[in-house]
Amino acid sequence: MKSDPLYEGDLYLPSSASPLRVQVLLYPHRLVIHGKKEDGSAHTEAWAMATLKREATSSKDTAILHDGENGGKKLVIKSEEFAKRCSPPVSAGAKMMHRFKVGGGMIVASILLFLAIILLGISFVLFPWLVQKAAQFVPQEYEVKMGEEMYKSFIRSQQIDTAKTRLAEEFLRQIDFKTSYPLHVTVVASPVKNAFAMPGGHIVVFTQLLKEISSKEELAALLGHEGAHVTLRHSTKHIFKSLSTYLLVSAMFGDMSGLSAILVQQAGQLNQLSYSRELEKEADETGLETLVSNHIDPQGMLNLFNTLQKGREKGDEIPEFLSTHPMTENRVEAIKEKISEIKSEPKENPQLTRLFLEIKK
Ligand SMILES: [Zn+2]
Repeated sequence: MKSDPLYEGDLYLPSSASPLRVQVLLYPHRLVIHGKKEDGSAHTEAWAMATLKREATSSKDTAILHDGENGGKKLVIKSEEFAKRCSPPVSAGAKMMHRFKVGGGMIVASILLFLAIILLGISFVLFPWLVQKAAQFVPQEYEVKMGEEMYKSFIRSQQIDTAKTRLAEEFLRQIDFKTSYPLHVTVVASPVKNAFAMPGGHIVVFTQLLKEISSKEELAALLGHEGAHVTLRHSTKHIFKSLSTYLLVSAMFGDMSGLSAILVQQAGQLNQLSYSRELEKEADETGLETLVSNHIDPQGMLNLFNTLQKGREKGDEIPEFLSTHPMTENRVEAIKEKISEIKSEPKENPQLTRLFLEIKK
């Protein structure tokens, strides 16, 4: 049978100046203290564990205990093992300290959680924003290459109207877009009334939209608007932003294998592209400037809005051009205002007229 452990300690009694050297037996629920007084008589007492108070200042290898029932008595035992094994409730003050420590832990945990949320916020909000900003500094040749890849990926699943593409491309060549980007237009057979621009220069126009456009000015306005999305790097920013979340998640999990697949997926979603109101307004204004500098009637821009909105049913795919709906009215008003400020008169361009008539055949 294992005997109860015995420890050496000093017992301080209120009646005596110097401590009494004692032996302490540690039981689960009490301490039994034996010692010899100065006069040689035996001193024995038992402290109930429940009434003991342990000083919070007790170190790892020293336990300082107070007998709660017979106040004023103090027992000091220098033993790491005892200090570890004897666990009476800590005194009120110490309890406060303890609680504060626990509370402190909670506070630290809350701060850490808060920081984690902030970091995640930064990652998923600031990072896409930064990446979008970075699109501004990507060399144009990279943009063109990326656009070329997306174009190839997109066009693979489409049916190109080669005759109309050739004419539209010639039409585009007649207009000076004041851009350093290699603009191209492709006419794709589709019952959807839409057009959009890819990073680097490719503009796609669906046959349905071409069918509904009734003047060369409208077509020029469409190309002017989409060309502006290219020149102002709107399409590149858009792609970068969509890619950034993917890049972030991939970087977190250390898996970049899906990047090219994402580019393909992005290409597939290009016809559902939508820009912010600010970007659309910018493209409207730049498109209008293109019309004016090429002596094309800017009224074409307003007519284009009408064509795009005409006969639209609820649930129809929203053309890129009108993706800011229901704010389209504001854009129309802004265009009207710009047009009223224009001083120069449009000039007839027989080449554009001829090409447009051929496209409409
Ligand atoms: Zn647009």
